[in-house]
Amino acid sequence: MAEIRVLPQNVADKIAAGEVCERPASVCKELLENSIDAGADKITVEIKNGGIKYIRVTDNGCGIEGEFAETAFLRHATSKLRQIDDLDGLETMGFRGEALASICAVARVELISKTKEAELGVYLVMEGGKPSEKTEIACADGTTLIVEDLFSNIPARMKFMKKDSTEAGYVADVIGRIALSRPDISIELISDGKEVFKTIGDGDISNTVLKIYGIECAKALCRVDYERDGIKIKGVVGKPEISRGNRTRQTLFVNERYVKNHVVSKIVEEAYKNAVMTGRFPFFVIGIYVSPKLVDVNVHPAKTEVKFAYEKEVYDAVYYAVKAALYTDDGANGLKYAKRDALKNGEGISDKTDKTDKTTSHSFIPPAPVQMSMSFRKIGGSVLKETPVTKQEYNNLKSEIPSAGDMKNFTEKYIEYTTPPAELEKQTKEIENRAKDIEISGTSEAAENTENIENVENIENIEQEKIEIECGERAEKKILGQVFDTYIIYQQGESVFFVDQHAAHERARFEMLLEQKRKSRIFSQKLLVPIVLDLDPAERMIVTDNAEFFEEYGFETGDFGGGSIVIQSAPAIGSDRSNRTDRYDKEIKSLVFEIIDILKNEKKGSRLTQEERTLDTIACKYAIKANKKLTLPETESLLEEVEALEKRGITTCPHGRPIKTEITKYEMEKMFKRIV
Ligand code: ADP
Ligand code: MG
Repeated sequence: MAEIRVLPQNVADKIAAGEVCERPASVCKELLENSIDAGADKITVEIKNGGIKYIRVTDNGCGIEGEFAETAFLRHATSKLRQIDDLDGLETMGFRGEALASICAVARVELISKTKEAELGVYLVMEGGKPSEKTEIACADGTTLIVEDLFSNIPARMKFMKKDSTEAGYVADVIGRIALSRPDISIELISDGKEVFKTIGDGDISNTVLKIYGIECAKALCRVDYERDGIKIKGVVGKPEISRGNRTRQTLFVNERYVKNHVVSKIVEEAYKNAVMTGRFPFFVIGIYVSPKLVDVNVHPAKTEVKFAYEKEVYDAVYYAVKAALYTDDGANGLKYAKRDALKNGEGISDKTDKTDKTTSHSFIPPAPVQMSMSFRKIGGSVLKETPVTKQEYNNLKSEIPSAGDMKNFTEKYIEYTTPPAELEKQTKEIENRAKDIEISGTSEAAENTENIENVENIENIEQEKIEIECGERAEKKILGQVFDTYIIYQQGESVFFVDQHAAHERARFEMLLEQKRKSRIFSQKLLVPIVLDLDPAERMIVTDNAEFFEEYGFETGDFGGGSIVIQSAPAIGSDRSNRTDRYDKEIKSLVFEIIDILKNEKKGSRLTQEERTLDTIACKYAIKANKKLTLPETESLLEEVEALEKRGITTCPHGRPIKTEITKYEMEKMFKRIV
């Protein structure tokens, strides 16, 4: 074990200071990283009450010598870095010497540690940032750190803590990702006495994926193993069928450190182009291995953002690595969409000349990401080829590397290429405004419903009468048919009407569900064969913790063990759903995932919006889709539903798109210039 020293002030100052312990998950992350740095290959993380009450991390690493026990808790005390120069080639996870100091300032900490050489270990208690007890202790080799009552002395911070289960979910997420970065280490997570997951630590990434995301996910992996320009890309990417509606199942490591980098996500998604529907995001666990000298990890205090000295090369490597993994027809992996000899032999993937490849008529051939590269900042010439660069070269280059705050600009610059920033801002504003509108209209509606029910009913009655009078005179509908398998056309009186079948049916379902929900709960039907669903630990906790919420919406769920949940009942909507098909199972599964996402983004005080969103999600899944041929009886019954909605003054789908449009005879005559 190396000696622990306090960094000279000038060194300390150069290191971006920051919050290392924001919530239980960040504390767990720091402790786990310390265990990894200590060379452990077996680590247990145990939490109680989402980690707020209790966190324990036990490892079989190198341990801390008794005489250095207190030093480890001093600010900027680290055994990993002495001089600022060391920052350039840092290979360990932590190096600021801040974590333990910060943690013991906001919680009670116990340390039990023993090195192999020592006969006895050390037991140290830190309270209020100061040692309160220290003794020798007989214990196993390695280190245990116990953190109790986090933030109990900072009420302001305590307020930011979410529900225990939400905090536990964050912990599971971060521990899971670190476990994915180190398939060679067995990592176990226990929450409130129950094992959340335990990875094997046999070095096989797919076994780690299996333990964390379940069998369905592990079965659909393509291995990534690629090298280009001295940059190694390793990991797994998921086949399109396991892509999800958000990016939570995307994990990136740089030199085994879990980081976030939106550009890399975009590049991977680019490599999937046409294989994954828009709005779906591929699964990946990708590690980028470059000389530590070419990465600046000191960008963000919590060390989750990185910058590369040679971005273009890195991004190109990622792009080709993923393409190669997806499209190489080697039997074990691959999408096997099509074969191409050049690809099979690896040509055209690693060879830069394929940018001018004339045979690009095959849609699956990886087009070079020329467009994307254009917006990346080019730093340095071809120095990368001579990696590792000399210290002098690197120091020269460092001045050109965008500074910390630049990362955001840099990312924006990338986005600028696809969507102009002004447009992007406009879109964001619009979305925000719409969200506000929904919330406002939602709350006012709720107020009316509860406080002024009679009035509302009166108004409704009057409105209804008015509409009925207006409609009463109407001629009969003459259904003309369906076009593009999506729109129903009918004539009535002096007009032709077009109805969007999905919008109409979705709204009708939505209103039906809303009524059921307002009365008590969504009607539910027992499934003959329950559906088993693999979830990652954070998601599983959301489902277990919100079992009642799911029940209100017609889902009966339970713990299936082995990381899965079982769905015993699902909303009972429409008799056509009694025939069990694979498609039905898939839809129920994706419905549960979508509801989990809604629960994840839980906003305070927007309960009604959450209700509406959930109902709409269910309504949308059960509604007649666009591109579906309808029979005459189906069309007729749908038009009846549209009419019933209109009587209540409802003319749009839950998202506000119109259900029906009209062209009058007069307008047609004008169109054909029969009248002017
Ligand atoms: P850093 O990890 O940035 O060096 P920390 O505050 O996280 O700073 O830890 C301070 C020091 O305590 C580390 O440099 C290391 O020497 C020692 N240490 C912390 N956790 C462990 C552990 N689990 N096993 C061995 N040594 C540890
Ligand atoms: Mg550390």
